[in-house]
Amino acid sequence: MRGIVAVKGRSCCGLSLRSMAVVVGLQSEGGGGGGGDMRHCCPGVSFVVEVEEEEVVEGTMATSSLLRVALCFSRLAGRGRSLSATGAVAISGLPNRVKIVEVGPRDGLQNEKTVVPTAVKIELIERLAEAGCPVVEATSFVSPKWVPQMADQVEVMAGIRKLPGVSYPVLTPNLKGFQAAVKAGATEVAIFGAASESFSQKNINCSIAESLQRFEEVARAAQDANIPVRGYVSCVVGCPYEGKINPAKVAEVAKCLYGMGCYEISLGDTIGVGTPGNMREMLRAVSHEVPISALAVHCHDTYGQALANILTALQMGVSVVDSSVAGLGGCPYARGASGNVATEDVVYMLNGLGIQTGVDLQKLIEAGDFICKALNRRSGSKVSQATSKL
Ligand SMILES: [Zn+2]
Repeated sequence: MRGIVAVKGRSCCGLSLRSMAVVVGLQSEGGGGGGGDMRHCCPGVSFVVEVEEEEVVEGTMATSSLLRVALCFSRLAGRGRSLSATGAVAISGLPNRVKIVEVGPRDGLQNEKTVVPTAVKIELIERLAEAGCPVVEATSFVSPKWVPQMADQVEVMAGIRKLPGVSYPVLTPNLKGFQAAVKAGATEVAIFGAASESFSQKNINCSIAESLQRFEEVARAAQDANIPVRGYVSCVVGCPYEGKINPAKVAEVAKCLYGMGCYEISLGDTIGVGTPGNMREMLRAVSHEVPISALAVHCHDTYGQALANILTALQMGVSVVDSSVAGLGGCPYARGASGNVATEDVVYMLNGLGIQTGVDLQKLIEAGDFICKALNRRSGSKVSQATSKL
């Protein structure tokens, strides 16, 4: 099996790379020698590159990216898939691995009008974990008065058969919610603030400053109990009430949550109005205050921009992506907000880029089919729609 990526110019470690094609031959000691073949060794991995003049496509790529492409080819070769499924992508600076945070059972189902039976929620969570999702947001410890769909949070937590290595965070808006969550067996929690003052008022009934004060209590209690806390910031590029959001405001709220001890800050385009342009602007501002390795993106697909926005974030160094199986979700307070980006679509894109997720796309599609059947609705995932027609 032979790759088609060609590289010209100089590698990041100073080696002059002539036009060549990457050939799968990892760990191979053979090859090299005449015909313009050259070998390039890097710590831990060696591979053979061959000049294939007819196949050369010009481009530039750092050695690290070249290695990644070679690894991707080798994985594909191992699975016996055709190379054309991935293409050879010369986008540099992408992470090797992306952590998918599956938010369907909480963020997705929370917006369903009809109450989903507890057993269905439990099965969905278990299927997602079995598909390889490393994080499955399980439920929310908000008052059932506010979110009736999550009234069975204790039963859900008690019912799920937890897989080792998978975390099942829950949303905790205040200390009371946090205590209930811990009692129910939660080992990770999330707190959620907004970058828009009016959205904060409508969504959680208090100002941004008040909400941050409440979260501080939760964060402190969590630290005492050794429980990791994830922070959400919603409306990071646009708000249904205020319109465009100033990136400096997002950076300020993110910095505050990070300062409280949140290990990761998920930046949510809650109404899905973002574009790669304002996503970049926002991420640049936030990354001045919070290390990029502690940032996640949470994109909704209202304007069809979610995958482009995620790719932009990956190019900027983000390696954690929130998504929802079958594109479940929306936002009851944000009119017209369509679902979260579908996990199936994100995984398909990442597979195509040779980025590891540990998620089995087929099992994920089946989990999506399961919940769509239970809700009697069509999947919001393009990948699922396309494969079900085949
Ligand atoms: Zn969402």
